Amino acid sequence: MKLSDILAHADKPLISCEFFPPKTDKGEENLWNCLNELRSIEPAYISVTYGAGGTTQDRTKGIVTRIKDETGLSPVAHLTCVGASKHELAELLADYRAAGIENILALRGDAPEGMEHFEAVACGFSHATDLIAFLRTQGDFSIACATYPEGHPESRGGVADDIRYLKMKQDNGADAAVTQYFFDNEVFFRFRDACEKAGITIPIIPGIMPVGNFDQIVRFSSMCGATIPDWLHEQMAPLQGDPDAVKTLGIELAANQCRELLQAGVPGIHFYTLNKSEATIAIRNQLTDLL
Ligand SMILES: Cc1cc2nc3c(=O)[nH]c(=O)nc-3n(C[C@H](O)[C@H](O)[C@H](O)COP(=O)(O)OP(=O)(O)OC[C@H]3O[C@@H](n4cnc5c(N)ncnc54)[C@H](O)[C@@H]3O)c2cc1C
Repeated sequence: MKLSDILAHADKPLISCEFFPPKTDKGEENLWNCLNELRSIEPAYISVTYGAGGTTQDRTKGIVTRIKDETGLSPVAHLTCVGASKHELAELLADYRAAGIENILALRGDAPEGMEHFEAVACGFSHATDLIAFLRTQGDFSIACATYPEGHPESRGGVADDIRYLKMKQDNGADAAVTQYFFDNEVFFRFRDACEKAGITIPIIPGIMPVGNFDQIVRFSSMCGATIPDWLHEQMAPLQGDPDAVKTLGIELAANQCRELLQAGVPGIHFYTLNKSEATIAIRNQLTDLL
């Protein structure tokens, strides 16, 4: 089902889950087990990432096609501008059309390993805004995009730049935006208000990263520009060396964060699952009164 229709007809906030294409057979088996387990919480859609440097194009395509054909869940395929010309993107989108894949999360992507800055290839795109405009010419896809309540690390003008470009993404055809993860809801609320003032009307779905391994989250956050508040460091610090206690606290904090967001009227919650189902299901099951 198309993301735009799912959002337009939703009578309650939606849960969605993000996965990455596994590299091994065992990882692949785990992915299908997780998706099976997640059925119990009825995710509105499952999004599948597109590896840094465009490295997982075939695996992303294979997984979203199998999700559509075999699970009854609605897939969203991430797509980046990295390493692909307009012509190559058009070929991939023709494959998606033929396979009945209706939803694309359109991104610029990051520079491939070994390159300091993102550079568009010849006849490729430099920004997600351009990819979204192109996607609109390539069929009746529903298009989501990324956005950054704390500002994208490369945005010289800070969050104001991201709001301007989100408006451009909307004007070029995006139907919804999913945020980078954040831990301080006030940051999101300020961002949402500013987006509204800028004329952004598409649903902005907060991305939530339950902490399962704090060192890993610290590493990710330093790369993607998400701030880890002092209170989170303070609460996690005494639990180092006790992975089960970290997971339990991570679930409790994420459930509280989601509760406040849902009470403030967000259209849904997008879980960065890191290919695990346990935390997402536990959090969702604490929010039954709101979903
Ligand atoms: C929900 C979500 C899912 C993601 N999934 C993936 C994935 O599957 N694969 C992957 O490799 N990465 C993924 N990423 C990471 C993403 O690719 C990086 O954050 C990347 O650096 C920026 O992508 P973007 O689409 O936001 O880029 P853009 O929106 O193009 O922004 C990149 C930078 O350029 C600036 N900018 C934007 N538009 C313009 C314009 N028209 N003119 C001038 N400057 C502009 C922005 O301010 C920003 O600093 C994801 C991120 C999020 C939040």
